[in-house]
Amino acid sequence: MFETLKTQPADKILALMQKFREDPRESKIDLGVGVYKNAQGVTPVMRAIKAAEHKLWEEQTSKSYVGLVGDPAYSDAMIKLILGGAVERGNIAAAATPGGTGAVRQAFELIKMANPSARVFVSDPTWPNHISILNYVGVETVTYRYFDRETRGVNFDGMVEDLKTAVKGDVVLLHGCCHNPTGANLNEVQWKEIIALMNERGLVPMIDIAYQGFGDGLEEDAVGVRLVAAGTPECLIAASCSKNFGIYRERTGLLMMVSNDTAAQKLNQGTLAFLNRQNYSFPPDHGARLVTMILNDDALRADWAAELEETRLGMLGLRQQLADELQRLSGSDRFGFLAQHRGMFSLLGTSPDLVEKMRSDDGIYMVGDSRMNIAGLNADTVPILAKAIIDAGV
Ligand code: PMP
Repeated sequence: MFETLKTQPADKILALMQKFREDPRESKIDLGVGVYKNAQGVTPVMRAIKAAEHKLWEEQTSKSYVGLVGDPAYSDAMIKLILGGAVERGNIAAAATPGGTGAVRQAFELIKMANPSARVFVSDPTWPNHISILNYVGVETVTYRYFDRETRGVNFDGMVEDLKTAVKGDVVLLHGCCHNPTGANLNEVQWKEIIALMNERGLVPMIDIAYQGFGDGLEEDAVGVRLVAAGTPECLIAASCSKNFGIYRERTGLLMMVSNDTAAQKLNQGTLAFLNRQNYSFPPDHGARLVTMILNDDALRADWAAELEETRLGMLGLRQQLADELQRLSGSDRFGFLAQHRGMFSLLGTSPDLVEKMRSDDGIYMVGDSRMNIAGLNADTVPILAKAIIDAGV
């Protein structure tokens, strides 16, 4: 049977990581994989996570199963973190999932189950896993214009025009904040316009929020998702704790179904439990438990928020330094967008040829579409990258 299998396409980012490891140059810079790194190039365990793990080790008396949707206390804490008080708790069904990817996967399956003819509109570009999972699950994907290659901001007019081709029941996938891969985000006025458009056409929003706290702050980064949850009849929200709690390998995510019909909550909650049961039964607990402990303990939460804020400000500082350095070298403001973008990524918006040239000439490793992980830089490597960008003729 196995001989019928075909070789699956390799993950481009993982292949790039391998190339980086094999590169003997000491001056090489890794801007590839989407993991936060501090100035020493380390992805640290956050202080509050360490403290919570210690406490858990002392206090936990059983590793028995929890529940098909995880611990309800985790859902409660995450709903508060993401939605604040934007929606009544009684209008939300939620389930813990293995990472944000697990939430995205369950959401797509749910869409297929609820409306087999729904198409999912995704931004051009989007996180490649969105498209590959949609294809795998068998949901039709349509792209909408999003990134303006001239300004490196959002092509809002193009986005609106393309979303106007969606029909009732289609799903619009939006990044809650810190768009991956571009770094370009909607402002509040634009969020409201998109919400009005979705309501007018009967479209269902799905928000993927994987970087809350990495852009403008924990509350600020939730503005869009809160407006959508409060302003549309139903929506799906897939959240990840991988980045903002630094617990990538613990696989900690949450899928929410928000509905303005309170009576639907029970059915929705049962559907999420069913989907978990079919795919992996009980979701992982360790990361979710740590997150719950931190969010529900004033001291741990304050320390976590402080460390997250340091992380965020560090990335903003690197963005500004890079934009300033490029302005100095190029004598123009054309790289100012790097300071405007938010989150861990920026799409430089250059050709694969120049990305390859920077790699071979200067040991700069960015993804082929010119996505850079800003957290792969530090104050010493910013000038090296800036020079490579200018030397390559970007
Ligand atoms: N959505 C987006 C847009 C992402 O960038 C990521 C992480 N790369 C995820 C979801 C999911 O991350 P994880 O499964 O590691 O929690």
